Amino acid sequence: MLTKDEAIFIRAVDYSETSQIVTFFTRATGKISAIAKGSKRPKSAFDGPIEVFSYGKIVFSVPNKEKLATLTEFEQQLNFSRLADNLFALNCSFFAAELINLLTNEYDPHPGLFDSFLQFLQNASDYRASNIENRESSNEQRATLSLLILFQLALLKEIGLQPVLNACVNCKTRYEIRDTRYETGWPEVYFSSSANGLICRDCQNSFPDKVRLTNTAASCLADLKLLAESDERTLKEIEKILIHHFTELLRRPPKMAKYILKT
Ligand SMILES: [Zn+2]
Repeated sequence: MLTKDEAIFIRAVDYSETSQIVTFFTRATGKISAIAKGSKRPKSAFDGPIEVFSYGKIVFSVPNKEKLATLTEFEQQLNFSRLADNLFALNCSFFAAELINLLTNEYDPHPGLFDSFLQFLQNASDYRASNIENRESSNEQRATLSLLILFQLALLKEIGLQPVLNACVNCKTRYEIRDTRYETGWPEVYFSSSANGLICRDCQNSFPDKVRLTNTAASCLADLKLLAESDERTLKEIEKILIHHFTELLRRPPKMAKYILKT
């Protein structure tokens, strides 16, 4: 039976001299792996070699659940090759794809996550294009990092692990943001991976895995609209917490994580 879907190409491993095992994140079917016969040939049935993160219409056949699917068609409609001009945006995209690969199961559809990933790729490559003209490379990195943070939070929500970021998970005290300079909030704020959210000073003793957060970072997490205008240091602090959280969830650090906080 042939299945038609929209898909983003995530990764490939060589299978033979001309064929590959390809992994796609599809909108209605979820993650799939398929054999792409002849995909390494210049004139393949898939518009030539498949570009990483390309988006398009896919047709594949699934013989049965035990066997690998076969890729029949992939019409590459959008590619984000501009990402390759910017190592940071490219690494963030590989990191996002790695998280999808590790945290979703094959044939488990997440259309909302698919839309978030496509939007992330589009925005990350658009920032690149607009900033080449303006030569604002640090602003570009800041923008990409805030997109990555939003994507990771969307991913956690989609897989049913949305963290509690507006109150203490334990005693339910609300985290109040009172002004845009973030001068208020709690005397101390923590994030606990095991509790999946914020922990206040009064409760922190019961959570040995907690990590301290600044009020600036906590305010951004409690009100994501603040992310867009926050400084790079705050974004890096939030990203560090998220990487710590994914490391706890996966019981090992994601491979791409070390490339995200390096710069
Ligand atoms: Zn509390």
